[in-house]
Amino acid sequence: MAMLDLVIRGAEVVTSQGVGKWDVGVAGEHIATVALPDSLEAGRVIDASGKILVPGGIEPHTHLAHFISMQPEANEYTLGPEEDTRGMVFGGTTTHVDFCFVRPGLAIAAAIESRAERWKGNSYADYSFHVALQGQLALPVFDQIPEAISAGFPSFKVFTVEVLPPHPKRHPYRLDFGRIKLAMENVAKHAGIMVVHAEDHDLVQFMYEKFRADKRTEGWLLSEVHSKLSEKLAFHRTIQLAAATGAGVYFVHTSAKEGVEAVQAARAQGLPIYAETLHHYACFNQEDYKTPRGFCYHTYPSLKLPEDQAALWDGLVKDGVSTTATDEFPTSLELKLRGQELENVTGGNLGAEARMGIVWSEGVVKRGMSLQRFADVTSTNAARILGLYPKKGVIAPGSDADLVLIDPAIAKTLRKEDFHVSDYSPWENWPVRGWPVTTILRGKVVVENGKLLGSTSDGKLVPRKISPEVLRKAAC
Ligand SMILES: [Zn+2]
Repeated sequence: MAMLDLVIRGAEVVTSQGVGKWDVGVAGEHIATVALPDSLEAGRVIDASGKILVPGGIEPHTHLAHFISMQPEANEYTLGPEEDTRGMVFGGTTTHVDFCFVRPGLAIAAAIESRAERWKGNSYADYSFHVALQGQLALPVFDQIPEAISAGFPSFKVFTVEVLPPHPKRHPYRLDFGRIKLAMENVAKHAGIMVVHAEDHDLVQFMYEKFRADKRTEGWLLSEVHSKLSEKLAFHRTIQLAAATGAGVYFVHTSAKEGVEAVQAARAQGLPIYAETLHHYACFNQEDYKTPRGFCYHTYPSLKLPEDQAALWDGLVKDGVSTTATDEFPTSLELKLRGQELENVTGGNLGAEARMGIVWSEGVVKRGMSLQRFADVTSTNAARILGLYPKKGVIAPGSDADLVLIDPAIAKTLRKEDFHVSDYSPWENWPVRGWPVTTILRGKVVVENGKLLGSTSDGKLVPRKISPEVLRKAAC
């Protein structure tokens, strides 16, 4: 065997083959072996007795260094990778997938290149980008899809809806269903996947108009604009279109029971359909909008009802919801709470740092989620669906040594001081049991004992390729 640089000893190790007390040996940037306890030696040994070793977290949905279009006149951006990924590594996330935006007039390759340039040397965690297709794109743009897939960017994000109200004027987000169909055809042919923000455009925009006419402006009405029915209609329409074109679909931020049910029904028919949800959606509901810091928990579509939270947890613990994400949109507290009305609230969450710990505490400790399922919904499934697997998302020989130790003995109430990105966290005052304590990125210990040992030059762009089995039927 190759000389080992690092051995993690004594932990309960979560692999896809099973969970057990094993030694994990790391050589260079890779996992070299998973072996019997006390069987390995190396220059450095981490004693991890009493802790759980899981694959480094994968955050599949972030918006860093992103123009804040809720208040376009302010001309502000979310915090960049140099700030947000510091929180990620503290929280056990070693890879994230952000977006590059292709709007009319811009080629896909150019959009990728400018984001890659922004990230280079500025990220504590590894990264990639979904290609977001927005607005009245010229049809030849869709011919660039195969080239983007072979360059390592196989996921294509579309909005079926203008998410924000018509006032003030903003650049368009929505792609019409004709263009979505065209994208699906290209993606299906070349082993890509669609990433879909699915809401019913007509219902959403009509409700903004109706509440404006009724002079009702309260922000907590968001769940009546971005409604359960809207999610139901759009999920079903998108699934039908996917079935007709042969495309796989990854639904971002599933928020309602109706969304989970649509995805479960499609998967039961053998379709390659996957749902993501957000820990904020699973832990908060529309009543929370009425609390003093209620819009901290808002992102589009909206918080829903307790029955929806129950369906999201059920899908995460059992089957039907494959991944947890944040829809990370890091800002200051002042900016996040600046708008409190239907037409000016700020969407997006701050919580990529808390994601692994919250899913552990709320999923494993409170709801009996198995350790393997925890690894699936925080890492492995995102790696498989988005094409990072088996380089990422699994503790196995040959994979990147992206590893996280969780200390299940920690019991605390989260405080502002537990977070490392902005001047607030929506998770302040939330009680947890268990929390990530050590993070290793490609063999390098980047966080240990509350200390940041990594740097912004650690994170690398990771090319992605989706395995055919993920696109043939629901595989995870
Ligand atoms: Zn998003």
